Amino acid sequence: MTEPRALLHIDWTACDGRGLCTEILPELLIRDDWGYPLVRGGGSDVPVPDRLLDSAAEAVALCPRLALRLLPGG
Ligand code: SF4
Repeated sequence: MTEPRALLHIDWTACDGRGLCTEILPELLIRDDWGYPLVRGGGSDVPVPDRLLDSAAEAVALCPRLALRLLPGG
């Protein structure tokens, strides 16, 4: 299995839980009862499949709290 090219990192201290990222990346993120994103499968660095790289970049760009970053994978 090949390593993902990117990881989506969530800075929980910056996130204010409005859940925009969960709408852009429902394949990777779900919302908890308060609107905060939860990673499907757990953790805070989410492997991003190639087909979702554009959506992940959009989520990073639109996060109002600058709480998301794309990190090199692998
Ligand atoms: S878009 Fe940003 S601030 Fe909003 S829930 Fe996602 S990580 Fe948190």
